[in-house]
Amino acid sequence: MNGVRAIMAAADTAARWHAEQRRKGVSQEPYVNHLLEVAHLISEATEGRDPDLVIAALLHDAIEDSGIAAEEIAARFGADVAALVVAVTDDKSLPKEERKRLQIVNTPKKAARVKLLKIADKTSNLRSMAASPPANWSDARRREYVQWARDVVAGARGGNPWLEATFDQAAALAEAAIPG
Ligand code: ZN
Repeated sequence: MNGVRAIMAAADTAARWHAEQRRKGVSQEPYVNHLLEVAHLISEATEGRDPDLVIAALLHDAIEDSGIAAEEIAARFGADVAALVVAVTDDKSLPKEERKRLQIVNTPKKAARVKLLKIADKTSNLRSMAASPPANWSDARRREYVQWARDVVAGARGGNPWLEATFDQAAALAEAAIPG
């Protein structure tokens, strides 16, 4: 499949797979906004040279949040895309704190392209938290989230200065938006 067609097929599929989901923030943005933001960051970071990585960005939460099987992603978008999505999928059988700890531990061992996905995902999450934090999150919880995102991204640096600087801006913005 040609790159543009495959990317649009993935965008359409992602919108359907996540149609019922909203972001956690007070403005309850459609979840697809997050997927498009991550894909946009990846397409900019790679200057349009890695269509599979853009597709993986669109589908990066499909296994974790929509229960889509890796095999289905592989059948529709190829083994490369499916492997990228699997590489950023947490093991949901583990408790949340353990999953968060494992992201910090495992990110440095990931492939370079997977690291870009991690940075783009955290950048989008921090921007959302700055613009529309979850209503029930305390200042301390927000501060903790920024620190955790920084700790994960610390293990993903060294491959893309532009994306890393974009993340740093988002982290500074998220921090500045905490009132306390
Ligand atoms: Zn995500």
